[in-house]
Amino acid sequence: MKILNEPKELQRLAETIRLQEKRIGFVPTMGALHDGHLSLVKIAKQRADVVMVSVFVNPLQFGKNEDFERYPRPFERDVELARLAGADILFAPSAAALYGEGFQTFVEVREISKGFEGDVRPTHFRGVATVVLKLLNLAKPHVAVFGEKDAQQLALVRRMVADLNLDVEIVGAPIVREPDGLAMSSRNVYLSAEERREATILYRALQEAKRALESGERNPDALKRLVVATISSVPIATLDYAEIVCAEDFSPTPALQSGKTYFLILAARFGKTRLLDNLRFSL
Ligand code: AMP
Repeated sequence: MKILNEPKELQRLAETIRLQEKRIGFVPTMGALHDGHLSLVKIAKQRADVVMVSVFVNPLQFGKNEDFERYPRPFERDVELARLAGADILFAPSAAALYGEGFQTFVEVREISKGFEGDVRPTHFRGVATVVLKLLNLAKPHVAVFGEKDAQQLALVRRMVADLNLDVEIVGAPIVREPDGLAMSSRNVYLSAEERREATILYRALQEAKRALESGERNPDALKRLVVATISSVPIATLDYAEIVCAEDFSPTPALQSGKTYFLILAARFGKTRLLDNLRFSL
């Protein structure tokens, strides 16, 4: 596995690979890799000849009082895990290399950036869209894989790719979970032992909703009430939101329609740690 730090180097290598008529698969990450990330690498390998993984803790997508400084950065371990998962190229630029002096261009995906994560983190999606566009311009992938774990981010990337006519296929990958159901996340390491134990309530709440859907429940408010009631059984969990949105444009839905795909999305705090989870379903 080749490790590159310079944006220009990655761009030149991508150009060379394309000239060899090989397909490039790309998986952008912020590192602290876990099995969720590695599942994306495996999907990319199935769809491409050469797989590039980026490890970059993007300052632009963190708010002032967020965890940019303390975000875990186990770089050596990431290198080893990416290599074992079959990545061919690991791109790990510095912030200075990616955002040169005088940087002032940002990507705004207007509607999907609003609500949910966008309400709690007002500059987050502008940072995500900007870095993803930059990385796509450098890695020149034919296919890029993103996790459904960050469903709003996935919808935003799809929208940006369509709106800006980017020549890349975006693939969404299912959430990988711990054996007890907690969605894997680099931020799970922040949880205390008690918070970690109780955090499984998010998955259990989504499973309750899934069972209700399977029994024929079609009222979004009833499904949301079920999730809210389940999560409120854990006193240390503070729910930020639970909503049902259309998978495509992330708009909240007053009524479920057959033939459409939805996400039941939720975010909750356990102490200082915010966790996201969701259930994707089609009717
Ligand atoms: P991050 O490093 O958290 O920015 O995530 C990088 C990519 O991995 C994003 O596309 C995430 O949606 C995806 N990802 C994170 N956690 C998981 C998970 N548990 N299962 C599947 N994909 C994930």
